[in-house]
Amino acid sequence: MSIQNSVTKRAAMRLTLLLLFGFVCEISHAIHIKRKNTKYVDYLTRYGYLEASSVRCDHKYCKVNSKTFKNAVISLQHFAHLDATGKLDRKTRHWMSLIRCGIRDVYRSRSKRNSLVLGKWPKRYLTYMITNYPSTKGHHDIDIDSMVSLAFMIWTSPTGIVFAQKEEGPVNIIIKFGSLEQEMGKIRYANTKTDRTSTITINDDIPWETEAPNVPSLFQTLIHEIGHVIGLGHTDVVDAMMYPVYKFGNMIYSLHEDDIRTAQEIYKDKVVSYPNRYQYLKFKRDFEKAFTDFNKDMKDAFGIDIPIPEMPNEFFPEGY
Ligand SMILES: [Zn+2]
Repeated sequence: MSIQNSVTKRAAMRLTLLLLFGFVCEISHAIHIKRKNTKYVDYLTRYGYLEASSVRCDHKYCKVNSKTFKNAVISLQHFAHLDATGKLDRKTRHWMSLIRCGIRDVYRSRSKRNSLVLGKWPKRYLTYMITNYPSTKGHHDIDIDSMVSLAFMIWTSPTGIVFAQKEEGPVNIIIKFGSLEQEMGKIRYANTKTDRTSTITINDDIPWETEAPNVPSLFQTLIHEIGHVIGLGHTDVVDAMMYPVYKFGNMIYSLHEDDIRTAQEIYKDKVVSYPNRYQYLKFKRDFEKAFTDFNKDMKDAFGIDIPIPEMPNEFFPEGY
């Protein structure tokens, strides 16, 4: 081996070692987040931006790789349409403080647009039950049953799913008001051998039926959570129903094009099962009555005119 070759080899080895060392330094560089600031780490893991396994906490600090953390913050900033600084700047911290839905924004194993949370129901006739009602009543006594029925109905048009209320179980969807830490609503899914049940918990700590400026709309929250139950995930389209953060002063009572497109995408296949004609007609009649009553209540209480959701025309297979 010539001297020149040997020198070149040694230099290459040194360079390799340097690069390797540099790389190791880069990936092993961890940042220490003080306990009082771990709420931001919790947020990032809770809503899917940061893998919980990449964070280690002791009584004083939470440690996380700096690059991983920066990427998580950037990912959230993209979702929130903020400047992608990778830092927890004021605007980012503000977005993270807004009242929101308890479902994750990012599902790593799902499609890029997060259009599917759990997949679609294999049938078009779903039953639901309201197991308990808000514990406090405001001065506007809006009928919860009508409101829930309408919130379901909003999704009937793009999906063809008919939702029917039952007084007792078993049902496909359970709606209840219960205590939640900070979110407006949360979903829990359970599978049985033959069927699936989704439970929507609406945060009972929020005084829904008051007109306080910092109280979100229950109707909008119900429509949003039902969107998850039928399979939709969060979108970064700010005016869409499936945007995860509640925007005060921008009450949305009808579906955005983005919501409709996603719902139609999920349920574009031929329908698998239908309610019978009697069930459908009863549903339609009940709905029309509920809508009229509800619309009047909302007009009287809040001066809001809710647009009438369209009933799908074709519930029945050909020749039914
Ligand atoms: Zn949500």
